Amino acid sequence: MTKLKVGFYGITGCAGCQLSVIFQEDDLLDLLELVEIRAWPFIKDVNDDETFDYVFMEGLVATNEDKERLLKIRKNTKILIALGACAHTGCVPAYRHFTLQKNYAHLLYEKNKNISDVQPSPIDSFVQVDYVIPGCPPSKQEIRTFLKTVVLGNIPKSYDNPVCTECKLHNNGCLLEVKKPCLGPITRGGCNAICINGGLECWGCRGPTDDANLPVMVTILRKQGHGLKFIKDRLVTFAGTKMPAVRKLVYDKNNKA
Ligand code: SF4
Ligand code: SF4
Ligand code: SF4
Repeated sequence: MTKLKVGFYGITGCAGCQLSVIFQEDDLLDLLELVEIRAWPFIKDVNDDETFDYVFMEGLVATNEDKERLLKIRKNTKILIALGACAHTGCVPAYRHFTLQKNYAHLLYEKNKNISDVQPSPIDSFVQVDYVIPGCPPSKQEIRTFLKTVVLGNIPKSYDNPVCTECKLHNNGCLLEVKKPCLGPITRGGCNAICINGGLECWGCRGPTDDANLPVMVTILRKQGHGLKFIKDRLVTFAGTKMPAVRKLVYDKNNKA
């Protein structure tokens, strides 16, 4: 059997997604013996000129160098997978879309003040993405299931229901009823509602569902007593670049960042 040629890459990100691949407890190593690993920054030297069947890309495009690497790797792979929230939605680094430069200028290192880079954006703003493994970081189980599926020659499926669906299966009490700003209703599930099971509200790290109803979500949060600034910050942390309606909310003339 010909082995699939697989690569793991990272552009701007925290490397947490790649660690999720490495810190698998079970059968990942057995699974990896069934594929040919051609790039994996933590394990071996990375050559951007390699060719692949599957590339798992962590991180978002925040510099011109990121962009050039991404374009080259896209050209050299048949299937590109956005691995994690930075690659998928832009995650926290893409917050720059939603705030004015004067709000963060004081945080820049002096030597970086004149760097002319690109607006931090998820990878599908620049190249075609074939699959997404969402989350910050993505679940180890999901990465393993994805690899197993493609090794067996099958097509991976995405989980399209909101987090609430899995939350109900765990018989959790709804956090919205006790005024906690849970974004489960508009967030793609598949994480087994892990945060709510632990008593924390969902921040939306897996990105919005296709039919996310933002106006209703905002109305619920407003009724809880949260101000627009709080709601905006919560929504754009993970979902912002993937939800045009969030942009409208953020750029509303009454709600300047
Ligand atoms: S998605 Fe989360 S874990 Fe992955 S690189 Fe971005 S910040 Fe790190
Ligand atoms: S706690 Fe959150 S995820 Fe669970 S049902 Fe309520 S809104 Fe949905
Ligand atoms: S519950 Fe929400 S924030 Fe937590 S892992 Fe799932 S999608 Fe991410």
